[in-house]
Amino acid sequence: MHSVFTTFALNMEDNQFKYCNSLTHYSRFKTREVKIGDIALGANNPIRIQSMTTTDTMNTIATVEQSIRIIDAGGEYVRITAPSINEAQNLKNIKDELRKRGYTTPLIADIHFTPNAAEIAARIVEKVRINPGNYADKKKFENIEYTDAAYQEELDRIRERFIPLVKICKEYGTAMRIGTNHGSLSDRIMSRYGDTPLGMVESAFEFLRICEDLNYYDIVLSMKASNPQVMVQAYRLLVHKMMETGRDYPLHLGVTEAGDGEDGRIKSAIGIGTLLEDGLGDTIRVSLTEDPEFEIPVAKDLADRYNKNIEGKLVFRPTITKNPINPFVYNRRVTHPVLNIGGHQVPVVIAELACTQDELKPVDLVALGYQYDAVSDKWNIGDMACDYLIHNEIYNEDMRAIDFEIPGTLGIIYPFKLWQKHQSRDRFYPYYNLENYQEATTRSKVMNFIKIGSTEVTDEVIMNLKKDPTAVLLLYATHCTFGMADMRRVLFDMIRLDAKTPVVLLAGEWDGRIEQDQLTISTELGGLLLDGMGDGISINEKYNGHIEALTNRTAFGILQATRTRISKTEYISCPSCGRTLFDLQETTAKIRQRTDHLKGVKIAIMGCIVNGPGEMADADYGYVGVGIGKITLYRGKNIVQRGIDSSLAVDALIDLIKEDGIWIDKK
Ligand code: SF4
Repeated sequence: MHSVFTTFALNMEDNQFKYCNSLTHYSRFKTREVKIGDIALGANNPIRIQSMTTTDTMNTIATVEQSIRIIDAGGEYVRITAPSINEAQNLKNIKDELRKRGYTTPLIADIHFTPNAAEIAARIVEKVRINPGNYADKKKFENIEYTDAAYQEELDRIRERFIPLVKICKEYGTAMRIGTNHGSLSDRIMSRYGDTPLGMVESAFEFLRICEDLNYYDIVLSMKASNPQVMVQAYRLLVHKMMETGRDYPLHLGVTEAGDGEDGRIKSAIGIGTLLEDGLGDTIRVSLTEDPEFEIPVAKDLADRYNKNIEGKLVFRPTITKNPINPFVYNRRVTHPVLNIGGHQVPVVIAELACTQDELKPVDLVALGYQYDAVSDKWNIGDMACDYLIHNEIYNEDMRAIDFEIPGTLGIIYPFKLWQKHQSRDRFYPYYNLENYQEATTRSKVMNFIKIGSTEVTDEVIMNLKKDPTAVLLLYATHCTFGMADMRRVLFDMIRLDAKTPVVLLAGEWDGRIEQDQLTISTELGGLLLDGMGDGISINEKYNGHIEALTNRTAFGILQATRTRISKTEYISCPSCGRTLFDLQETTAKIRQRTDHLKGVKIAIMGCIVNGPGEMADADYGYVGVGIGKITLYRGKNIVQRGIDSSLAVDALIDLIKEDGIWIDKK
């Protein structure tokens, strides 16, 4: 195998952008089966769910009990950190105790840096995870220029250190994950490929080639990053390279340091869900800064719909064989602006209120980011204030019109018949279905919305829309199960026909479970935004006026996670593990409480100095544990204060932000 695959140069042939079986129907990328204990992974097996303990690995009982909570919640594998030989040896006690209590779930040892620990763990547990960025490698964050000879020398050194582990895995039937992380690429890879998806893939392949040379194939691969865009591009590139070279290893999916709460769930859904929609992924771990058992229901919700018999289900359009966009880099679809929608402007958020809510009052806008102050007769506009509001989704011309002065940054979208009566009002626009639009004798001179299902969009419709510089499509998927692929097919047609009409993506039907709906919507809309498609998003509020605030937050959360529109502080917090020396959840909550008004600032909260600095990716500030009760603060990748007492560290972080002149007081 070694000779088949050396280093990369993207070829420019027909399949240059191929990374999945199909862009128009669900088809899982068929991998080899890898046995992990008695729960096999890949091939036709369901997408497996896993999590990782956060306890001290030396605390056998605490680790066993947390593992049981993960397993009882539905975890099919449990990963445990083994930072040194002692922890690796203690895996035996943990495994024995679990077996004694009747739990046979396969265990995975998480290894960083230490080959000795890996070699012990591989004799005990069913799978080891190594990080090719730091296995037998100390990262110095140095920009060393490697000559070809020096590079090869490094590879030879790694090979020598890695071969014993591979041999042990072969002998003991232990599987291995070669898990690349965007934030912790080796200096060697950084010097040649930079901090890129290509570097991430090559990092894994350096180790993979060694395994293959030794005829060891029980391998799972991962390409994690905290930025879903980078993560998705890296996995796609990995599969592209596997397809090109006839490789078929199962994929472990995850967004690292996703954070907690809604933001963590949205970010994870966008990264993991986008890949699952395209049939990629054999096991998933959702990394939340919460107790690990809470990760399991989220992972299950994400995996469930692909574990049903859906292979080959078609979207209602002709299939395509060639991807018209480059899926390995971000490029926004070219559109012309219609007022503040499209062109180079950030995607808009359009709120849509439930149809029962026909009498709109100023107070109804609070959930959408607008607070009316009667004393000053002014609107306070939040960072997450929607840009437009579709008032009532049904064509009801008797609906009571808005009878107050709307905020200056808000546009109102009315059913066209109602709009006709109010067309003289500033910032009121009509929306039509396709038939009404085609037959309309009166249209707005500046902006007309056309709500259209994917199956209605023919080439003829696209060509007609092209002629109307005021048209904005409100596109929804007719094929609800695969909303992303269905809408993507329409957008690909628009690209093929060079139609620059802006498109606002409408979320599909909600099935009645709010948490699951939020994940599905994040997957479907987020996946398109990651590929530069979508000039706005809209989530219909189908719960009769109870969750406008949630749908609005979700919309802004999706834009934030796809980095297409920044409206709040970004937190990159690790899920914590046995290396963590402080209460990460509590600290994250404390930092969030003090800084959640700092729009666009990226703050990393990391449990340990060993992996934290590498994993915090592109954070502006880092809050990193260095010992019991001790914190080191970073500005970007640079240390600014070492070993501060944790009781003073949050204040010190805020002082640092103030020093940089980007602090603002909370309102
Ligand atoms: S950064 Fe967090 S999750 Fe990663 S090894 Fe350190 S403490 Fe564990």
